[in-house]
Amino acid sequence: MSMKIKVKTPIVEMDGDEMTRVIWAKIKEQLILPYVDVDLKYYDLHVSNRDKTEDRVTVEAAEAIKQYGVGVKCATITPNADRVKEYDLKKQWASPNGTIRSILDGTVFRTPIMMRNIPPAVKSWRKPITIARHAYGDVYKNVEMRIPGKGRVDLVYTDENGKEQQRETVHEFKGAGIVRGVHNLDKSIYSFARACFAYGLAEKRDVWFATKDTISKIYHGRFRDIWHEVFENEYREKFKSAGIEYFYTLIDDMVARQIKGEGGMIWSCLNYDGDVQSDMLGSGFGSLGLMKSVLVSPDGHYEYEAAHGTVTRHYYKHLKGEETSTNSIASIFAWTGALRRRGLMDDTFDVVNFAAKLEHSVVELVEHGQMTKDLVSLTTTPNPRVLNTFQFLSAIEANLREKLGR
Ligand code: NAP
Ligand code: MG
Repeated sequence: MSMKIKVKTPIVEMDGDEMTRVIWAKIKEQLILPYVDVDLKYYDLHVSNRDKTEDRVTVEAAEAIKQYGVGVKCATITPNADRVKEYDLKKQWASPNGTIRSILDGTVFRTPIMMRNIPPAVKSWRKPITIARHAYGDVYKNVEMRIPGKGRVDLVYTDENGKEQQRETVHEFKGAGIVRGVHNLDKSIYSFARACFAYGLAEKRDVWFATKDTISKIYHGRFRDIWHEVFENEYREKFKSAGIEYFYTLIDDMVARQIKGEGGMIWSCLNYDGDVQSDMLGSGFGSLGLMKSVLVSPDGHYEYEAAHGTVTRHYYKHLKGEETSTNSIASIFAWTGALRRRGLMDDTFDVVNFAAKLEHSVVELVEHGQMTKDLVSLTTTPNPRVLNTFQFLSAIEANLREKLGR
């Protein structure tokens, strides 16, 4: 009997829903627990358990990530009206990801997993581009009006004592039109900047950020200035010793550079830019099943997950006993992401090494032409061997065993 690899510090585990819950259990059983001795602080975020605990379980999981530093999360249902009926819920509980993100004050980073036989749409992309999206304010919290006809619209700031302090005319309308008010908060912009610089440093990768501050001199200008201030005061020296850079430019220049470049950087985006560009990059690099996601707090806590959802359609097929083709790669990489981070934080190289071996087992399998159905239309491998959900996991297991000599 060979010894298991010991993880020094506990990892927070959050279980989830539907098809991803099914593969989650398999990943643990086949790819993690036989080889790794880890104290998992388990939180069951199954939608029924969130309902039963009045969603306290989600809050407790987030608090545990703050305590232990690293978490790994399965995809979860964000209930809508149909789900309330389906699971007989007391109410439409908030998105667990939203709840955890606001407790950790975190930023989400999405990174594609690249394979040699799944070429990106853009020929020059050699390394993954990670997108960080600011997740507060702007158009997502806007207040808007239709203006029926002639008249003036002003922007007014009244202080907490009710005294008018500033007034700007938005427009003197000569006829009907529309108007919109958006806001953001210094505090949120500081946290966003810190999370991005902290992650760049942890990953030893350049951080790129862009706005349109030539046009929006005050609003976007504030983002530019806060980022500059945080970088100069807290990160310039650290970046220099790590051999990485912070690069700031205009959003249109940024997009042009990304399409011509080879990738590799962390691209930090304003909320709307991140919404649009993350979808562009997602399809540009391949499939949702190959997109990883990590939530990083400004003080360096990490929560790893897959970017996709619970794959509902496959779950119903699975319940009927039909064969499914769920790609487990992003969920496996959530586990390896958490283990690697834990290993780096604890200085346990064997844990980091195990994470790398598991990832190689996955990548090699696909590069040797064995994959789930979603990847078949993307691969350059002629006549790939198509595996179902469980065959794919077992093939990874066999590959991993070979690498570990077990
Ligand atoms: P989804 O679960 O991401 O699935 C949408 C479709 O994308 C699937 O039907 C499937 O296409 C394909 N797909 C996604 N992941 C795949 C994988 N790993 N392997 C193979 N195919 C994959 O999105 P959804 O159906 O819109 O949402 C389902 C539930 O997930 C919702 O309740 C939503 O609230 C939740 N959700 C959770 C998270 C999260 O926890 N982070 C994120 C998004 C959504 P085919 O059916 O064509 O095979
Ligand atoms: Mg989008």
